[in-house]
Amino acid sequence: MSGNDERPLTGWRFDNSYARLPAFLYTKQGPTPVSAPKLVVLNEPLAASLGLNAELLRGEEGSEIFVGNRIPEGAEPLAQAYAGHQFGHFNRLGDGRALLLGEQLTPSGERFDIQLKGSGATPYSRRGDGRAALGPMLREYIISEAMHGLGIPTTRSLAVASTGETIYRETELPGAVLTRVAASHIRVGTFQFAAQWGTEDELRTLADYTLERHYPEASALAEADNNNRYLVLLREVIARQAALIAQWQLVGFIHGVMNTDNIAISGETIDYGPCAFMDVYDPATVFSSIDTNGRYAFGNQPNIGAWDLARFAEALLPLLHEDEARAIELAQEELAEFARLFNRHWLNGMRAKLGLFGEEPEDAALVDTLLDLMKQHGADYTNTFLALTYDTPIGQEASLFSTPTFADWRQLWQTRQSKQPQSKAESERLMRSSNPVVIPRNHRVEASLEAAVHGDLGVMESLLDILANPYELTPERLEYAAPPGSSSRPYRTFC
Ligand code: AMP
Ligand code: MG
Ligand code: MG
Repeated sequence: MSGNDERPLTGWRFDNSYARLPAFLYTKQGPTPVSAPKLVVLNEPLAASLGLNAELLRGEEGSEIFVGNRIPEGAEPLAQAYAGHQFGHFNRLGDGRALLLGEQLTPSGERFDIQLKGSGATPYSRRGDGRAALGPMLREYIISEAMHGLGIPTTRSLAVASTGETIYRETELPGAVLTRVAASHIRVGTFQFAAQWGTEDELRTLADYTLERHYPEASALAEADNNNRYLVLLREVIARQAALIAQWQLVGFIHGVMNTDNIAISGETIDYGPCAFMDVYDPATVFSSIDTNGRYAFGNQPNIGAWDLARFAEALLPLLHEDEARAIELAQEELAEFARLFNRHWLNGMRAKLGLFGEEPEDAALVDTLLDLMKQHGADYTNTFLALTYDTPIGQEASLFSTPTFADWRQLWQTRQSKQPQSKAESERLMRSSNPVVIPRNHRVEASLEAAVHGDLGVMESLLDILANPYELTPERLEYAAPPGSSSRPYRTFC
């Protein structure tokens, strides 16, 4: 062994299957180097699960890698091409400020994309500068890790490193790069791109690759379906999105930019731009400054999910059947399942939030009445369920809880509970594991970002600690559960 080989390894183990796909799906290129790399935050548990040596990555090598100044051994950086319906309009897109470094094979045999976001311009940058600002990259880090803590499928954040460079938006901002970890970055928009600009063979190659990577059991399932693997792909993607969006609705998460390029085929939540959690319950809630028509409002997310999946089905049509009319029929049958699957996941989730086992015919009405009352009284979404769970108002719920209509509702709820064989204690346990004590409250996220961009990382680190175990009730967590003061202006997000 040479002296070099005794150097402790950082643990990278790349196998880059995407780079072996047809070349029109990407452009191979490296990141643009920056002047003063500095690691801001590193996700040590995630690093460990990827087989990486967190201690080594904390050093200079990590800073260099996490801004893109140094390419880890085995990586083959490339920018992915994709298309997308952005607010309903079809555009040719691609990684304009991101690069896939490659796929890390973990010690447990899983495969994850390692992507740099903010690493410089690519052929897909259009008028963009290819860069990202520190605040928004930390925001993605916090919210994606919060989603993971909540048990919701999501891309994750391995690190944020600052570049030492200034980027220009409305003001001058410090630049940064986020290292994102994903089951893959294949999107509905990737299929739209292949359908529009590839041959049918190339589209099939992408579909086969996706099936093998995300739905390896599909071939077996397809045997029962005329061996139509692509119909199984459509069905599985629909099922995962229905489950995912139901989970968003149950915790009050607003994605904010559900364009088809931001819908991952893996079923993970991806692209944390203008997203935010709702405080006061209102289906019309919109945080994104550019979503002026409320296309991506909280209550519209399931409809938009179905719309995006219809675009996915369109892209797959040539693979579904040689006769186009028959292909459309098959696609429509699958798409019709979305609403049924979503409603089932959502209602089951609501039952759990209310400590209800089994199914009773009155359940849907019971949930709807509660939500109506919450809307009428401007009740905080998360804290209303928390107050029901712990049988004590956390904040302004007192005003809702003291109304006669709420007392009537509570009576119905208790009657429903008394019908089930499970004990009160079992019911409470179910509620405690279904109702988070903390979500990443906008005012808390903003406060931690404000401190972080001024060099104080402690506020963010405490918040991340809390968000890692959102269902645990402690006095400290109750502090983080407090909604924003009533004086604060409507919250706006930018992307
Ligand atoms: P998003 O709305 O975040 O899904 O981004 C839409 C498209 O714009 C994607 O193709 C991004 O790569 C691209 N994009 C966003 N910001 C920039 C930027 N600063 N420079 C270049 N491309 C960008
Ligand atoms: Mg995007
Ligand atoms: Mg984005």
